[in-house]
Amino acid sequence: MPNMSLKRVEMPVQDGKVRSGNIDEVALGYTEEMAVEEANRCLDCKHKPCMQGCPVSIHIPDFIREVREKNFEKAYGILKSTSSLPAVCGRVCPQENQCEKYCVRAIKGESVGIGRLERFVADWARENLKEEMTKPVTNGHKVAIVGAGPSGLTCAGDLAKLGYEVTVFEALHVAGGVLVYGIPEFRLPKAIVQHEIDALGKMGVHIECDSVIGRSETVDELFDEGFEAVFIGSGAGLPNFMGLEGENLKGVFSANEYLTRFNLMKAYQEDSDTPIYKAHKCVVVGGGNVAMDAARSARRLGAEVTIVYRRSMEELPARHEEVEHAMEEGIEFKLLTNPVKVIGEEGWISGVECVEMELGEEDASGRRRPIVKEGSNFIIDCDCMIMAIGTSPNPLLRSTTKGLETNPKGCLLVDEQGMTTREGVFAGGDAVSGAATVIQAMGAGKKCAASIHEYIQNKL
Ligand SMILES: Cc1cc2nc3c(=O)[nH]c(=O)nc-3n(C[C@H](O)[C@H](O)[C@H](O)COP(=O)(O)OP(=O)(O)OC[C@H]3O[C@@H](n4cnc5c(N)ncnc54)[C@H](O)[C@@H]3O)c2cc1C
Repeated sequence: MPNMSLKRVEMPVQDGKVRSGNIDEVALGYTEEMAVEEANRCLDCKHKPCMQGCPVSIHIPDFIREVREKNFEKAYGILKSTSSLPAVCGRVCPQENQCEKYCVRAIKGESVGIGRLERFVADWARENLKEEMTKPVTNGHKVAIVGAGPSGLTCAGDLAKLGYEVTVFEALHVAGGVLVYGIPEFRLPKAIVQHEIDALGKMGVHIECDSVIGRSETVDELFDEGFEAVFIGSGAGLPNFMGLEGENLKGVFSANEYLTRFNLMKAYQEDSDTPIYKAHKCVVVGGGNVAMDAARSARRLGAEVTIVYRRSMEELPARHEEVEHAMEEGIEFKLLTNPVKVIGEEGWISGVECVEMELGEEDASGRRRPIVKEGSNFIIDCDCMIMAIGTSPNPLLRSTTKGLETNPKGCLLVDEQGMTTREGVFAGGDAVSGAATVIQAMGAGKKCAASIHEYIQNKL
């Protein structure tokens, strides 16, 4: 008999007051009993509507059926057959807008906790299985991947399975992209990311860190070295600013820089020699996941944090769960508010002048346009401001590679197969779409792996 509870099984979490003083993971995951109870809420629908919401087409009802039967190893095999990063996706995918959005249980009550079950299975496998990876037999063809984020790693994994000799060139000293430099430890432990990357290594994927393509060597030189195709998964790591008066004062940071210091360079550790400013009062501008991560990181370094967002809670783009967690950790939200000027004393930020906003008609994005309430100016005192208002692709690759075209936002142009305007060069993830999601980047990496395979086979 299915479990007909309208509510999903709660996921245990660390207490808000305790966790704002540590870096440990906030959500603690299901126990076996909880996972089986939640899996029993799945109705195993014949038409599998949940699958249409998954960019990598995970066989969702099939893996959940195995969880219900306590066949966790089989459930893991099903996940791994289409996703190379299930422990990551189970934690950070916006399932509420993807698979869970189409779950029939959501018509009356809460959807099945698909992400929570995915996380449970991947964690169970990491703790209980010794994965025997067999290196596929090589087909003698070489492919280069630029960037070791979710798009590049997925593309690399799928091509390695087909027998390609894959080298991933990564600019940073660690692979993982945003998963290691952006998303904090308390949301996505780095040991988990590394475990999933190690699995790719066992399949024969070679990762060369500290290699900035466009500086260490160019895409053209990669072809000269015998690579037959190149995939660009270089992300969108260039932070946007608002161009406000005073934005270049000391104490104003981009979320990317702040989070890179905090996560990748481990500035949260007592003995870390990474410089990071430990603010007393910090204003974070933006309403996405990046803003939540920056705010919650600053909180863990001891700051009183206010998030300033120009629309209302309804339009706030961050995951609902992250907003709730931020509130529980004592972060204040100043909604319908926009900064207009950064105020400073002796070169250092001392406050942010803001205006109140109200919402007008819908704009082209379908959201109601924020309009300034004249004369509503007020000042928030602070000694730190973190800008989390979006990012764009870095121009380095397009400026050093012949024939690569971009749209006005700097995103690479690709055709249906994911090939750029330069033959043999494919691209996907944030470098093409602009800042998006992990699973969309993985979906693009998967599609491009199939296209690269076809491209190389057709040339033979
Ligand atoms: C703070 C933060 C929080 C987020 N939270 C979520 C979330 O909760 N859920 C979600 O789904 N998405 C989230 N996202 C978005 C998600 O992480 C990205 O959409 C995703 O990582 C994009 O993957 P990618 O492979 O395209 O690029 P990235 O992950 O950006 O990886 C690109 C890699 O390419 C490398 N690179 C760049 N240029 C070069 C070069 N010239 N040569 C060699 N290497 C290069 C970079 O160093 C990087 O490692 C978040 C993003 C940020 C910044």
